[in-house]
Amino acid sequence: MYHHLPDGANFWSFLFAIDQDLAETARKQGCPCGGRLHRANSPRKPRGTPVQLPEPERVRLSFCCDRDGCRKRLTPPSVRFLGPKVYLGAVVLLIGAMRQGPSPRRIRELSQLFGADRRTIARWQVFWRQHFPQTPFWKRARALLAPVVDVATVPLALLTAFLSHRSHGEDWARLLRFLAPITIAGGLRIEVSS
Ligand SMILES: [Zn+2]
Repeated sequence: MYHHLPDGANFWSFLFAIDQDLAETARKQGCPCGGRLHRANSPRKPRGTPVQLPEPERVRLSFCCDRDGCRKRLTPPSVRFLGPKVYLGAVVLLIGAMRQGPSPRRIRELSQLFGADRRTIARWQVFWRQHFPQTPFWKRARALLAPVVDVATVPLALLTAFLSHRSHGEDWARLLRFLAPITIAGGLRIEVSS
């Protein structure tokens, strides 16, 4: 069911188109200081794509304020990148979920396919188990998803909840869009509750 990503360049182009929409929305809002935003994309090449992407689709879309004294960088949410990770969000999700599933062989295949080594996968587990549950995003989101999703079973339960009907590009896009708020600065901020 969730055992594979939609393959082919079309899916990744589709996600890139969503990122462009998200970026355009952010650009129109402008900088909080009132300045205008200019494109200042990060030359970050995502790893974990099963297909060779055209160069423009690999960058993280980003802006810079044009006002002297501000020059703030603003990075809109993304359905392709997850948090500070260089790997594409879908891959971080999928391999994280496979760790909770029954098939170690599958994980080996996936990690080979996407070029993630054992240490990288271990970091993703730390992300899902320790950091993700502490984010303000999850604290709000879990109210929407309960009782469907228990944090102990994230990210497997997220995939199951969103991809329950068919493993289709649209479902993946919905899930990644849902998670997009954690891809921006502050989205992964950890709240320390007293
Ligand atoms: Zn500004």
